[in-house]
Amino acid sequence: MRKITRQTKIIATIGPASESSEMLTKLINEGVDVIRLNMAHADHDWIRMITKRIRTVGKELNREPAIMMDVKGPEIRTGYLHKDLDLQKDDLLDLVFIAQPNPPVCEGIWQVEVNYDKLPDHIKTGDTVLLDNGLIQLEVIDSSTERIRCQVQQDAVLKSRRHVNLPGIETGLPSLTEKDRRDSLVGIECTHDYFALSFTRDADSVDLFRSFLRDNGSDAQIIAKLEDQKGVINVEEIIQSSDALMVARGDLGIECAFEDLPIIQRKAVGACLAAGKPVIVATHMLESMIESPVPTRAEISDVANAVNEGADCIMLSGETTTGRYPLECVKMLTRIASRMEEEIQPGLTEELKLFRPKAKMLRSAAMLAMRLDNSAVLVFTRSGDLAAKLGALRPNGAPLFAFTDVKGLHRRLRLIWGIEPFLMDFSQDPEITIQNAINRLHEGKWIEEGDQLVTVTNAFAHRKVIESIQIREVEF
Ligand code: PGA
Ligand code: MN
Repeated sequence: MRKITRQTKIIATIGPASESSEMLTKLINEGVDVIRLNMAHADHDWIRMITKRIRTVGKELNREPAIMMDVKGPEIRTGYLHKDLDLQKDDLLDLVFIAQPNPPVCEGIWQVEVNYDKLPDHIKTGDTVLLDNGLIQLEVIDSSTERIRCQVQQDAVLKSRRHVNLPGIETGLPSLTEKDRRDSLVGIECTHDYFALSFTRDADSVDLFRSFLRDNGSDAQIIAKLEDQKGVINVEEIIQSSDALMVARGDLGIECAFEDLPIIQRKAVGACLAAGKPVIVATHMLESMIESPVPTRAEISDVANAVNEGADCIMLSGETTTGRYPLECVKMLTRIASRMEEEIQPGLTEELKLFRPKAKMLRSAAMLAMRLDNSAVLVFTRSGDLAAKLGALRPNGAPLFAFTDVKGLHRRLRLIWGIEPFLMDFSQDPEITIQNAINRLHEGKWIEEGDQLVTVTNAFAHRKVIESIQIREVEF
């Protein structure tokens, strides 16, 4: 049995530092499982081009990554500035809703445009407004329909088109914007495997997005991004309604008290494990490696902690989009994750509830594979459910091979902890399907003579189809 190096999956966001065929080849070879395309920065032609490129490289390497389109969701930004503003503590600054001349100062009060004119309906005196990912803190001192007057809390420089965060404030923005719809249509055209929905606030936003995808002919899965207080409050219903969850720590750490962040992460990961839904820990995992070839000691511990908590995936953002060391970041995640995984005691997730009899059999199959030497689990799946549940059980150290005859599902399954997916036609006869799978695993040098495959499959007994767990010794 080939030794598995890592069961936690890696997501890499693609950008200028990683978009070349050469770099994509290296990243996928190094073990990137899912590729994320961030619509906050990408245009449609680039999406079409890069999707084709990723798919070509994946096929060449015989290791096709899943592609995730991350739609940016409701987002408020400040307007364009052709010169940075030098803000001083206690300066007054008006947030206004029409484009401003440059430089935008009027009677000693800064005038800064924001792109959402309903904001005064949702904001009151004493509220906090954060600009540029929380770097600039403003306090609201007065608000009218034309402007929101704020006081600058510390010296800061405001640049063009910065992010606006409003911790704990419901903005009334739609969960799916016009831009999100236009972007998603391109993702559908490109048959992207996953769509990540930014700022998911409740189950309704997931349902709405799902209807939009289905109405436009896509069966892609939805990853809800947990990134504000409303999402944290509704996390259980969000997990139920979505296909996976991303703990999006970038915005979450601004929208919530930052000391709550590790607790929100731990609870969200735990809730996903109990529900059998994949979970991603994202943002700033190796942030210092954007500039430096080695991570900080704190980052190493953070990555190891996410692995130890049981995340399905750990994600790279700026590290691989614009960073200087995209490949080294992937190697680093693999090193840290595989070392941590060695320390995790083999055992199965107790909280996971399995309902279908065939799903219940998985627990026994996984247990067998963990107990037997040189063994792996082999499943066959058309909906993906069996593979998803198998990964959700977290059978540490046991390789998990999932075969499907559904094109696209073989990519999608790469997101799930521990699953090694294969695309193959199924025969009418389950026995032939099993033999074909064994041959395929042997050809790929995943298994060798004498290994044991704990197989969950249909079998014929007196011409009736029954569910079975079988132990197949590999022999030729
Ligand atoms: P973003 O989401 O990179 O699209 O902002 C991730 C996060 O907020 O952590
Ligand atoms: Mn975000």
